[in-house]
Amino acid sequence: MSDKKAIFFNSKRPKKENDRFFINGLSKVSENQSNEDINNLLKLYYTIDEVKIDITFAIKINAVIEKHISKLIKQADIFFKMSNKNNCSVESIYSGMAGIALLFKFYASKTNNKHKTFEQSKQIIEKCLKILDSTSKRITYLTGKSGVYVTAASIYLESNDHANMKLMIDEIVGMLPLALDPKTSDEILYGRAGYLYSLMVLKNLGWNDVNSDDIIRQVVSAILDSGMSLCSKENIKTTPIMYEWHEKKYFGAAHGLLGILHCLLLMKNYLTQKELYDLIKPALDYLLTLQFKSGNLPSSLNNDKDRLVQWCHGAAGATQTFLLAYEILKDTKYLIAAEQFGDVIWERGLLIKGYGLCHGLSGNTYAFISLFKVTKKFKHLYRAAKFIDWCLTNDSKIKELNRSFSMFEGIAGNVYTLLDVQNPLQANFPGY
Ligand SMILES: [Zn+2]
Repeated sequence: MSDKKAIFFNSKRPKKENDRFFINGLSKVSENQSNEDINNLLKLYYTIDEVKIDITFAIKINAVIEKHISKLIKQADIFFKMSNKNNCSVESIYSGMAGIALLFKFYASKTNNKHKTFEQSKQIIEKCLKILDSTSKRITYLTGKSGVYVTAASIYLESNDHANMKLMIDEIVGMLPLALDPKTSDEILYGRAGYLYSLMVLKNLGWNDVNSDDIIRQVVSAILDSGMSLCSKENIKTTPIMYEWHEKKYFGAAHGLLGILHCLLLMKNYLTQKELYDLIKPALDYLLTLQFKSGNLPSSLNNDKDRLVQWCHGAAGATQTFLLAYEILKDTKYLIAAEQFGDVIWERGLLIKGYGLCHGLSGNTYAFISLFKVTKKFKHLYRAAKFIDWCLTNDSKIKELNRSFSMFEGIAGNVYTLLDVQNPLQANFPGY
């Protein structure tokens, strides 16, 4: 079958549905496509047998990567020339230079250290450490100090610099009292779940001090206690754990229940069976009761607008969390829900807000990649390829954001994704 409607999909001037997303001309066509049709269309992008990227597609992707990497190298040069005086900021993974360090390390690993980006990632992270505001109370992986320290730890480990790696571990562990402080929130961007994520990265780097498991367990307990305590205080009966950020009960990955459940599921070895089945599972089931008719999730409690289809709010973050829940809890309703979220993203996920990970096309592409990894259905890989192809073709059609170089809102996250989709079975959303 020919891919006629793809002409519309790849149109020079994509049609906007509203102020949030471009119309995906393929979304209606694909409902009637057989597996054979999909496999034939996919051959333009990947080989079916080995799931290897097509050489022509790879050349197209790598040309965009190189264009963006040269911009980011210039950005790094500007950063190196800046004064080392403390500027009262955290150069975070989310929007700061630590995110560029993370990308440069990843790029080096994929390209045999082309442009010497590994050395540059070390130089960037050491400058981030120098200018880090030591009084900052930000604790998380994405927006806080632990993300800078844990990225530095990974770079030191790869440099066989165990003494400096140990210093980074001490810094992260030193943030435990702040993480356990009752005034600290729980969500990924600014709260305990985001600190827990850094501890997980540290554990994956080989952190095995005698107290490491105890530290992780203390954070897990604090998150669960906080969720139960809000339910008890507000007499909430619909779910055993609930969270607030700025007095709003968010549901999405960045600020809400989904993201917190995601981090807890990532640390499943630190949960008791009772916690898993009496707290986490009912909270996941509660979220599924909130699905809109489209299949999407609201961004917060009592918000009945079905608008946001992105990683931070709505279907893209939800896809990844429910896939993880399916893998751990083996309940097929989670897999069905994840595929429904995927359909929503396919229809409304060509976002005009940019190509970033947080509320852009890259974050949405990862949802398809995750669906493919778990289900092995080529439909999902085809959708990921189409989104990527769209972003390569419509490079200048989207809004420039304030933080246009950054990992979560800009081109660094897009480059990370473009590198990762070339090996879809090994791909992983950074920071989730
Ligand atoms: Zn966002």
